[in-house]
Amino acid sequence: MERYDYLIVGAGFSGLVMAERLSSQLGQRCLIVEKRAHIGGNSHDEYDAAGVLIHSYGPHYFRSNSSKVVEYLSQFTEWRQVPYRILSFTEGKYWSFPINLQTFEQLLARPSTTEEMEQTLRKWRVPISNPSNSEEVIVSQVGRELYEKFFRNYTRKQWGRPATELDASVCGRIPIRTNRDDRYLSEKFQALPAAGYHRLFQKLLAATPNVSVMLRTNYREVLSQVEFKHMIFTGPVDEFFDYRLGRLPYRSLSFQPESFSPEALKDRESIAGKKGFWQPAMQVNYPNDFDFTRIVEIKHATGQETENTTIVREYPRPGGPDAEPYYPIPAPESAALYQRYRELAEAEKKVSFIGRLATYRYCNMDQAVAMALAEFERLRDATVA
Ligand code: FAD
Ligand code: UDP
Repeated sequence: MERYDYLIVGAGFSGLVMAERLSSQLGQRCLIVEKRAHIGGNSHDEYDAAGVLIHSYGPHYFRSNSSKVVEYLSQFTEWRQVPYRILSFTEGKYWSFPINLQTFEQLLARPSTTEEMEQTLRKWRVPISNPSNSEEVIVSQVGRELYEKFFRNYTRKQWGRPATELDASVCGRIPIRTNRDDRYLSEKFQALPAAGYHRLFQKLLAATPNVSVMLRTNYREVLSQVEFKHMIFTGPVDEFFDYRLGRLPYRSLSFQPESFSPEALKDRESIAGKKGFWQPAMQVNYPNDFDFTRIVEIKHATGQETENTTIVREYPRPGGPDAEPYYPIPAPESAALYQRYRELAEAEKKVSFIGRLATYRYCNMDQAVAMALAEFERLRDATVA
């Protein structure tokens, strides 16, 4: 029997931050067990066969309003400031997105002003005082035409259900602006780890004297071989409880990468607007065409200097026993089922459930880090008390 203080299930942001804090601050011995072949969870990045740094599980745009989270992570990385900009492609052309004054000008095919846009939106808006789903949250801000152009079909494709069956928070994530600010996100800190996420995770682990990592292992395989006083669980909460209340719904994805040499990129120069790139922005959304939702060319954001490039098409897939659970589905019926799992989780006093999967929350990386820091503080204070 190997003895540890903590068994940590999952080596994503949540598990790694817990390991670092418990080990460096409290000298606790931790074993991290990760079923994949690498650390980093869904935030993993790597160099592909073309030598291009790609985000392996979809684009990961780090952003935060929390100086605590940014200061904590800054111990392990320098940052490359990136004002994330994307485009939406529909009706045969690229549109400025998220909706802003430039989108409105494209629609009118002439210059306009914030005043005119606000006046027009006041006419277009469907008056709904308390939007209760993802359709209502958009039509109440911009009306039906813009909703149908950019949101309705993208959302159906991404989630496999209409926007009316998703919480308002899903489409409500996307800012709508009447000025010229065309950044995809609104948080005050928007930056990528300068040398990539994997380097950040390696540095974080290097700062942990008492941590062992086991890759390619489901935690259940080690339960009979290790002793520990507390578990940090960051996998799917329904899996932990053997799906005893039924399966929580998740949405999955399939990522289809394609690499291009400088030779193959020659034809794309007029579209991309510069040499060495395939498309004009780091992300192009396709609300109304194709089966994929978006094409990501992360080289625009990483700033990597290399002649080749790689794009990744993202195809939404149903969740289920054989699919990776990439997205919890924010909707009333899944929230009700999660609530029942949460009650089971709260009864497990020797297990902390944190992160996107264990709390069934559509959360961003900074929120996962904040959750881990808060849980560490709770455990520390409980130990000291
Ligand atoms: P994860 O990263 O999912 O890590 C959990 C780990 O647990 C995984 O490595 C998994 O293999 C492991 N595990 C699960 N079950 C077991 C088991 N039984 N045994 C052993 N190991 C197990 N966030 C942003 O801030 N910005 C973005 O732009 C962004 N884009 C995203 C795009 C996509 C397509 C997706 C899916 C997510 C995106 N996110 C983004 C969210 C981000 O990925 C999460 O916030 C973050 O990964 C949460 O970290 P975590 O450690 O909680 O979970
Ligand atoms: N969305 C949309 N059209 C777009 C972009 C987003 O309808 O062009 C909706 C869609 O429902 C999506 C949600 O807004 O799932 C959140 O988008 P985001 O890009 O934040 O999703 P993520 O990067 O988490 O997949």
